[in-house]
Amino acid sequence: MSTRELVVLGTASQVPTRHRNQNGYLLRWDGEGILFDPGEGTQRQMLRAGVAATDITRLCVTHFHGDHSLGLSGVIQRLSLDKVQHPVHAHFPASGAHYFERLRHATAFYETADLREHPIAEDGPIAGGTKFALEARRLSHPVEAFGYRLTEPDGRTMLPEKLREHGISGPDVGRLQREGRLGNTRLEDVSTPRPGQRFAFVMDTRLCDAVYALGENADMLVIEATFLAEDTHLARDFGHLTAQQAARVAAECGVRQLVLTHFSQRYPDPARFLEEAKAEFDGEIVVAEDLERVQVPKRRSSPTA
Ligand SMILES: [Zn+2]
Repeated sequence: MSTRELVVLGTASQVPTRHRNQNGYLLRWDGEGILFDPGEGTQRQMLRAGVAATDITRLCVTHFHGDHSLGLSGVIQRLSLDKVQHPVHAHFPASGAHYFERLRHATAFYETADLREHPIAEDGPIAGGTKFALEARRLSHPVEAFGYRLTEPDGRTMLPEKLREHGISGPDVGRLQREGRLGNTRLEDVSTPRPGQRFAFVMDTRLCDAVYALGENADMLVIEATFLAEDTHLARDFGHLTAQQAARVAAECGVRQLVLTHFSQRYPDPARFLEEAKAEFDGEIVVAEDLERVQVPKRRSSPTA
């Protein structure tokens, strides 16, 4: 079984609190481990959450404010210290490349890890293969920020019983999958549609088109909800979202599971974020807590438009 889950390492905006670390999220997606926005203290949170440096295959930074990037120095040094053998790809806004350089070389260390930098200058695909595509879109924040979206292509699930009925086995299965037809058997006769899954990560932005484009039909949307609706003016002025806005995005985008995070320390009671979101969105809502694991929901049974 492949693992698809979000490991929450930190949920605080701006500064850590007694119960919340600065941001940090590891998305386990089959063999990939994508670390999003490691804030200060991420290394220790990884230890507490059971995430090893060797689990990381990719770093995705939305923007260079400290609560989303100060953890890079420690995590990057750890890749070398723990002798991570595979390449690790780093994606971040090109306009902040000088910050990335400084964080990467903040202090002396013996660098052995193969860390490959991929600065992002515009919207579009940033990585991918046959199993998934990763894209970035520019958000609206005082510092240039990009959100991320991971899309698994739609596919088909082969039905062993039907294959047997049609007398198809061995290498013929692969041929049928590639060519769509084998003799009188069509691929549709022996398989069912398997909708690809979608994950979106939207962090530090006011409402803008990119938020909706990233969230479209997401199985899991991880999105900032720094403020509550009573402080909508603050959200607008500082380039953030309220829980109400985030939940409306989820409703309009046909999201299945909404994960709210990046909370301002001005609100001591997280239940208020849930209440506010519930009024707008009737899908599953998670008000993220540090060290929580959130499973990506099971596949949709039929493809979405
Ligand atoms: Zn932030």
